[in-house]
Amino acid sequence: MKRIVVLGSTGSIGTNALEIVKSSEDRFEIVGLSGHKNYKLLIEQIKEFQPKYVSIGSEEGYKLIRREFPNLELYFGDRGLKELALKENYDILLTAISGAVGIEATVEGIKKGKRIALANKETMVAAGPYINRLLKENPKAEIIPVDSEHSAIFQSLLGGRKNEVKKLIITASGGTFRGRKKEELQDVSIEEALKHPNWSMGKKITIDSSTLVNKGLEVIEAHELFGISYDDIEVVVHPQSIIHSMVEFKDKSIIAQLGVPDMKLPIQYAFTYPERKENSILEGLDFTKVTNLTFEKPDHETFKGIKLAFKAGRIGKTMPVVLNAANEVAVELFLKGRIKFLTIYEIIEKAMERHIPLENDGIDIIKRVDLETREWVYSNYEV
Ligand code: NDP
Ligand code: MG
Repeated sequence: MKRIVVLGSTGSIGTNALEIVKSSEDRFEIVGLSGHKNYKLLIEQIKEFQPKYVSIGSEEGYKLIRREFPNLELYFGDRGLKELALKENYDILLTAISGAVGIEATVEGIKKGKRIALANKETMVAAGPYINRLLKENPKAEIIPVDSEHSAIFQSLLGGRKNEVKKLIITASGGTFRGRKKEELQDVSIEEALKHPNWSMGKKITIDSSTLVNKGLEVIEAHELFGISYDDIEVVVHPQSIIHSMVEFKDKSIIAQLGVPDMKLPIQYAFTYPERKENSILEGLDFTKVTNLTFEKPDHETFKGIKLAFKAGRIGKTMPVVLNAANEVAVELFLKGRIKFLTIYEIIEKAMERHIPLENDGIDIIKRVDLETREWVYSNYEV
């Protein structure tokens, strides 16, 4: 039985992960859960999964949970996430929080030598070089990606040797606004931007998908996770989201991973790897119903997310921290109705322009640059 801590159990990835645990009989045990504001759902999850440790980000929720479960080990806020990761008696830490707030807990999980089932892509974007150093220093620790593209690449890489890889081909759905031009994006509403054609996800990543910043973050995530040069990473738009990504080897053979667009599969794989297990809640792909698999180039002029990320990634050092932090605040401001959709790109571009990159070699510098960037965006755009 593998013991699992889920950070962000009340979110989209978190609830899918709990579905996997529930449908896997005695294969997994939940020992830790964390939620932020949604304490009602967290309380239901505590009743159902009976974890030993819980962390919550809402004061009201903290008081209620304290009262209802007096014997539970309960923690609060960012510190609470770290406390959960610092526990001894678990095997897998699923990082399903959205945003850079998940970095420190991931760091602690690695130092403990645990398996990190990594959904939180912001961690590898902002802290990739530091995380990779920690992985070398803690050889028992490992990261198994949950992001569907990276899970696909991870699985495809098993088909050859590292030095035989020619390039990674990351697929993108193209997002909600695929096919539109700049003029048609000036006044798009929050509701429109939140309608993803294929995937049901949290709000932040859904907006990131419609700007293609999500794909940009995934390019940096792939570079950091697999150690592949930016010159050997390509993005192709594949609107049906059936091929989740591919690896081309030196002999031009391409290995891809396919499946219905459902995050439960990569979540379960990150839990069971190197094994594969049957699970009746996982839906199979019926090829007689897949009538069309199409591919096209991304429209980089309209959707600048990928280009900006390649630029930040190639500059390296703390530039990806800035890209990520500026984007997080820009998305938050867009969701609050404070800025227009296209201003998200402007914010990222300007934040990157003003930043002088520093060595990205520890949590303190990452936190400092992250905070400085957020403050700059708030003070210039939160009107
Ligand atoms: P959601 O917004 O659905 O969930 C986020 C989770 O994090 C919730 O449990 C939320 O708590 C918690 N949370 C939010 N802010 C904080 C905070 N400041 N401190 C502590 N906890 C916090 O996001 P998703 O599940 O969609 O995404 C999670 C991560 O996985 C992201 O990094 C995303 O990029 C990545 N990912 C998601 C995919 C998907 O299909 N959803 C696919 C690939 C990657 P609460 O709700 O209680 O406030
Ligand atoms: Mg993805």
